[in-house]
Amino acid sequence: MSENGNPRIGVFVCHCGTNIAGKVNVPEVVEFASHLDSVVVAKEYKFMCSDPGQELIKQSIKDHGLNRVVVASCSPLMHEPTFRGVTASGGLNPFFFQMSNIREHVSWVTEDPEQATKKAKALISAAVRRVALHEPLLKKEVPVRPEVLIIGGGIAGIHAALTYANSGKKVYLVEKEPSIGGHMAQLDKTFPTLDCSACILTPKMSEVGKHPNITLLTMSRVEEISGFVGNFKIKMRKKARFVDTAKCNGCGACWENCPTTVTPAERIIRKGKMIIKTVEKPRPN
Ligand SMILES: Cc1cc2nc3c(=O)[nH]c(=O)nc-3n(C[C@H](O)[C@H](O)[C@H](O)COP(=O)(O)OP(=O)(O)OC[C@H]3O[C@@H](n4cnc5c(N)ncnc54)[C@H](O)[C@@H]3O)c2cc1C
Repeated sequence: MSENGNPRIGVFVCHCGTNIAGKVNVPEVVEFASHLDSVVVAKEYKFMCSDPGQELIKQSIKDHGLNRVVVASCSPLMHEPTFRGVTASGGLNPFFFQMSNIREHVSWVTEDPEQATKKAKALISAAVRRVALHEPLLKKEVPVRPEVLIIGGGIAGIHAALTYANSGKKVYLVEKEPSIGGHMAQLDKTFPTLDCSACILTPKMSEVGKHPNITLLTMSRVEEISGFVGNFKIKMRKKARFVDTAKCNGCGACWENCPTTVTPAERIIRKGKMIIKTVEKPRPN
């Protein structure tokens, strides 16, 4: 028999003490689950994550020749790895397991026990149908590039870039404007401490500029992201700047000759009903 061909599913419903059983009628749910398509056995236990609970699942896999497991309990974040492990130690591919969250998604958030029981049945029914379609998956190791791309060079992006770079990772910081700094670069003092905004920001901006682990890509945007976690491929568009960045020493000659304004010439700030208008000084001709 191919592992996919003839699903023999076991459903295991956890009480989680009174967390689930205090609201959901567990025996009724188990009885319902036992009649679902391809379900060979349905059982309940006080704490399915405990050693005896795990043993119950393993033994049932053996006794009933199960090839799929559904556990209805808490959130997958909490115990999916536990039950995948149990499924594997029962001799099955760990991905022939499906979790149904009837605690956070049901008993903790549903007042009416009747509604909670109905919802638990619906979720378990969905998990049973889903697990029947699972494919056996294999874990494999692939080489990854431990590099980080950060989009947006405001204070958040700057701080993240420095944190990663200082931990030894290579960072690409992408900023669509000619300079990093974002909103904070436009502020004088910051609420509530009235610290000088530039005093916080500029040392960080300069650290980014000269950090050996950070490649700063200004006037740039991400056009396309493909690949997957650990192996993303990024397509960038870098705007022309008509300056040889390798030779740039910050003399400002390009700024004086640039026909466009880099920052908005006029900025309007609303403070409650008060409107403050700031106008940037015209450039020298
Ligand atoms: C008028 C005003 C007064 C404020 N006063 C205070 C205050 O007193 N105290 C306080 O704590 N906070 C204050 N704030 C809030 C504070 O400025 C912001 O929370 C903070 O600057 C946000 O930082 P950020 O890095 O998340 O975003 P931003 O500063 O907005 O930076 C985002 C950066 O990403 C870039 N970017 C956006 N899209 C792309 C893209 N697709 N590709 C590449 N780059 C991109 C932008 O150009 C920008 O440089 C104020 C905000 C404003 C507007």
